[in-house]
Amino acid sequence: MTEFTMPTYKRLAVRFTHGSGPYLWDEAGRRYLDALSGVAVCGLGHAHPAIAAAICEQAGKLLHTSNLYGVTLQEELARRLLDKSGLRAAFFCNSGAEANEAAIKLARKRGADRGIATPTIIVTERSFHGRTLATLSATGNAKIQAGFAPLLPGFVHVPFDDVAAIERVLASRHDVVALLVEPVQGEGGINVPAADYLPRLRALCDEHGLLLMLDEVQTGMCRSGRWFAYQHHAITPDVMTLAKGLGNGFPIGACLAGERAAGVFGPGNHGSTFGGSPLASRVALTVLDVLEQGDYAVRAAALGTRMLGALRQQLGQVLGVVSVRGLGLLLGIELDRPCAAIVEQALAAGLLLNVTGERVIRLLPPLVITDAEADDIVASVVGLTRRWLEG
Ligand SMILES: *Cc1c(COP(=O)(O)O)cnc(C)c1O
Repeated sequence: MTEFTMPTYKRLAVRFTHGSGPYLWDEAGRRYLDALSGVAVCGLGHAHPAIAAAICEQAGKLLHTSNLYGVTLQEELARRLLDKSGLRAAFFCNSGAEANEAAIKLARKRGADRGIATPTIIVTERSFHGRTLATLSATGNAKIQAGFAPLLPGFVHVPFDDVAAIERVLASRHDVVALLVEPVQGEGGINVPAADYLPRLRALCDEHGLLLMLDEVQTGMCRSGRWFAYQHHAITPDVMTLAKGLGNGFPIGACLAGERAAGVFGPGNHGSTFGGSPLASRVALTVLDVLEQGDYAVRAAALGTRMLGALRQQLGQVLGVVSVRGLGLLLGIELDRPCAAIVEQALAAGLLLNVTGERVIRLLPPLVITDAEADDIVASVVGLTRRWLEG
């Protein structure tokens, strides 16, 4: 599309000029219904007035001072996230990959402190944890790892939603320090594990003294129908990472740690120049305010039930549809054939969605959609999917 940027993305031939709520407008003035939210980022939709106002006001006061000084807004954001999650300490950065880097370093440092020379983290196949070298090494996708050897050692991949596979690893080696998993795999195809998966991982971690580290970069911030997806169960992780929905489009990531991991890092062990700046913290605090005031966790659960029910009813029995699944506003429709080009057909029909894992249509709509907008998305996706399978 342009010769000036590295072609790291296959971009669609559309450029947006502005947005409002769940809608975006292109250069020709055409309106699109956004069922992707900039990949689970803009949970509160586009151009949210409270967020725009917070950015403007804070920009006129103080953008950045560095972490060499106290940052009151960062402390306030930490306190609010810890209150909601039941965790003990926060580290702020600028992206999901960086949040997971912090979690990986935390697990390794805790292992090193206990005399383990090769601290190893169990991760899952079809996972996605980011594009930096450590998070790429943790990611369970050979396609995106290709060309970047040597990857980092210290990760063992097991199938997702398979507790026995983890038990086998734990029986055969004594240097495992943590599990790192997504509560629902996002990039891997909206893979929702069995209801007892996370509780069983919690029990295994307790039994073996491991850290349970949950990558909630995509599932967190109310999208799953709870503030954090693990809250669908009666468990608390030792480490949780957040990013995408935390800043509604302003870059911010967080690594939160509970009792077992909160005291692992000391001065000099980790850092970030930009992480948790007054501006980023102020935006995330505003996101928390709006999510709380609108009771958006409950709203996302209701919308998710509505959309999943309608999609299952209208597509569940259609030949070529393998499965319709999801949790809250993380929705996936798996087909029996590749369907990457359905994204262009949706775009032409004025709907933004995405395909992951080559044959899973992924919907990550903003949490602010009305019932009617949810029904519009469903109707449009059902029509597109039926036509795809007929053509
Ligand atoms: C998007 C994503 C990441 C990476 O986040 P970036 O901000 O792109 O670095 C990590 N983990 C999960 C589960 C994600 O969905």
